[in-house]
Amino acid sequence: MATNRTIGPTTYAAGTVPNGYVCTKCEAAGVKLWREYQTAYTELYCAACAPRRKGSEGAEIDEKGYLVDEDGCRTDQIGPWLVPAVPLAEGDGYWGYTSVPKDGVVWWKALPTYGDAHLQAVRDAGLAEGADEATRGRALRAAEELGRRRMARLSPEELQQELGALERLMAQLDGARTPRV
Ligand SMILES: [Zn+2]
Repeated sequence: MATNRTIGPTTYAAGTVPNGYVCTKCEAAGVKLWREYQTAYTELYCAACAPRRKGSEGAEIDEKGYLVDEDGCRTDQIGPWLVPAVPLAEGDGYWGYTSVPKDGVVWWKALPTYGDAHLQAVRDAGLAEGADEATRGRALRAAEELGRRRMARLSPEELQQELGALERLMAQLDGARTPRV
């Protein structure tokens, strides 16, 4: 039986999600979610759990929330009936697919598509013995995204330290290359 999921009010402030904005399947929070089209009381799916249409089962969803479907079209509609779940500001429902206000669109797109744990699993799968090319490709993209997130989380001081360490390393390498007299 469908239940009315109260998801809580939102201000669409970057990176904040209302309390109940959680994947129904895996309970992932803080990531983009999709909902069933034209259903008021609904299941929520994260990118990892969203059922796919036949022919695009393996399609990756990018950081903006798009995938390239089986017809070659770039779309934020997943499977035959899932659309981005953008909560109403009051938190008692969702904007219709074509009526989401601009701040809601910006908020949704800025949420990470996959959580760190999922990206780490994808990265590790690519390192496994005998991983095929597609798996290694996905792993590389996951590793790049994890790296970007790590850099984005550093404070200006930490970033300065990282750069300082890099400079020292470069100087060391340079010293090792130049013959000493
Ligand atoms: Zn999920």
